[in-house]
Amino acid sequence: MDFAPGPCMIAAMSDVDVLIAGGGLNGPTLALALAQAGLRVAVVDPRPADARAGDNFDGRAYALAVASQRLLKALGLWDGLAGDSQPIRQVKASQGRPGEGAAPFFLHFDSAEIEEGPVGFMLEDRFLYRALLRAMQDRVQHLTGLSVTDHQATGAGVEAVLSDGRRIRARLMVGADGRGSGVAARAGIRRQGWDYGQTALVTAIAHDRPHEGIAQQYFMATGPLAILPLPGNRSSVVWSETHDNARAIAALDDEAFLDVLRPRFGDYLGRISLAGARFTYPLSLSLAERYAADRVALVGDAAHGVHPIAGQGLNLGLRDVAALAEVLVDAARRGEDIGSELVLERYQGWRRFDATALALGMDGVNRLFGSDNPLLSAARGIGMGLVTAVPALRRGFMRQAAGLAVEPMPRLLTGQPL
Ligand SMILES: Cc1cc2nc3c(=O)[nH]c(=O)nc-3n(C[C@H](O)[C@H](O)[C@H](O)COP(=O)(O)OP(=O)(O)OC[C@H]3O[C@@H](n4cnc5c(N)ncnc54)[C@H](O)[C@@H]3O)c2cc1C
Repeated sequence: MDFAPGPCMIAAMSDVDVLIAGGGLNGPTLALALAQAGLRVAVVDPRPADARAGDNFDGRAYALAVASQRLLKALGLWDGLAGDSQPIRQVKASQGRPGEGAAPFFLHFDSAEIEEGPVGFMLEDRFLYRALLRAMQDRVQHLTGLSVTDHQATGAGVEAVLSDGRRIRARLMVGADGRGSGVAARAGIRRQGWDYGQTALVTAIAHDRPHEGIAQQYFMATGPLAILPLPGNRSSVVWSETHDNARAIAALDDEAFLDVLRPRFGDYLGRISLAGARFTYPLSLSLAERYAADRVALVGDAAHGVHPIAGQGLNLGLRDVAALAEVLVDAARRGEDIGSELVLERYQGWRRFDATALALGMDGVNRLFGSDNPLLSAARGIGMGLVTAVPALRRGFMRQAAGLAVEPMPRLLTGQPL
């Protein structure tokens, strides 16, 4: 490991500068950003080292906002990922009714209207995670097959206990350990949230006709169905249904599953067939009341687990990563204690409002569009009519979706290194 000399002046008292609980996507991305800037980082990841090597580990494909793509570029990952990504050129939303396919579009975003290029990029989990793993090698201690079972702030630092009994001292502990964050719970950070009563059925579909880079979202009373373009004639399907419906659909064999999907999917892409394994993800909202506590910071779903309706969960997490990495690296360069309250308050102040507002916004969209209530339907019609009729409003929404409306923008999200 090659560490720049003295980024954190009191680091010698600890084993690492930053200890990250969680080896999902946000933990490793943060680890990489910090390690590239010279901090000593370890990631504790409960999964065995080879668990995510297979193609069918996780069926998700992420709609990455332009700002997230710029972050991956700044970390030196994007050139290796671009070939496996699919630019999102248009987004169309419509009301969908089971058995009838999509109704006429009530919302249409075309990236040709903004100069920044595509609204975002679709990228499958398997490619992103593997790229992160490769880049972490030799830079970050990746402690696989282990979890953090306890941690305690010790004044000048934090000491964590791992599931094999090992103790690690750090200046700062980061909880990137998902919605059930143990780091947050031990730090006394309370959470609020609820179960959406929905489960997402996720798979990849092959189709006869090209998708032209168009992402589709059908809003149905039982939950939204997203059809998101992947490279080639393939699309990722995120189909949210009530828990009971989803359980019954998940139990069907592949042919019966396609028979239920076809009338919802419609025939605009010609014949469809399965192009990947099928996965289910129960959906919930889970918001931490604070993103920082004594020697602790939270990022990603540990801070805010949101509904996947607009594909913003990981994008929000990567905004946390970019902001926290910038705060910590700048503090270390100034010789500040990176785990101090003053430093962590800078991070919390930067991120909490944006993330909570977006999480609640996604919650509102799911309620507004997932209802047959005539009042909500009228509100929906007026709102969407406005967005469709006013180009400036439409461009504003597109920039928001592309992650380009964050103020102030962390350096990594503009593609600049730390
Ligand atoms: C169906 C679906 C589709 C989605 N689509 C999109 C999309 O298009 N775009 C987008 O931006 N987002 C999307 N998201 C959201 C995105 O998947 C999540 O926001 C993101 O994966 C969260 O990553 P994370 O690293 O914060 O948390 P997680 O992936 O939950 O990782 C947490 C990690 O912490 C580990 N852990 C738990 N306890 C401990 C412990 N005690 N010690 C150490 N480690 C621990 C866990 O094993 C896990 O590996 C989608 C989500 C779903 C469900």
